[in-house]
Amino acid sequence: TIGMLAIDKNGDISGACTTSGLSYKMQGRVGDSAIIGSGLFIDNEIGGATATGMGEEVLKTVGSFLIVELMRQGRTPQEACEEAVKRVVKKSPNFKDFQVGYIAVNKQGETGAYCIHEWFNYTVYQDNENKNHKSDYYSK
Ligand code: ASP
Repeated sequence: TIGMLAIDKNGDISGACTTSGLSYKMQGRVGDSAIIGSGLFIDNEIGGATATGMGEEVLKTVGSFLIVELMRQGRTPQEACEEAVKRVVKKSPNFKDFQVGYIAVNKQGETGAYCIHEWFNYTVYQDNENKNHKSDYYSK
């Protein structure tokens, strides 16, 4: 999945995600990316989040919606991404066998990123500059 979150000069938030789905997926499978709340969620009052990885696990926890709701309750984007990944880990004893990752941004322009394994690359474009980051991850 490629997920994108943006805040324009008026402070309005938008997002998009695109995916080819999983390799060798069952015919007719609908992953998380096509389902608002799971693969992507934006609330212009709070922030946005988007997901990558094993869509079934993201769907089971409605991950992007969860992150935005956690930010509404005061978590930072980083804390909210970590909590959403931990929710997947808690619910799936086989979490070592798949990846799930999230990025998030809040209304203040703070960002977060977290995944289960290793790390993933993400880029923050701010103040006319691209900054590349490696996400933090759960299974250290
Ligand atoms: N999240 C996608 C899916 O489950 C896979 C991906 O990350 O590209 O369909």
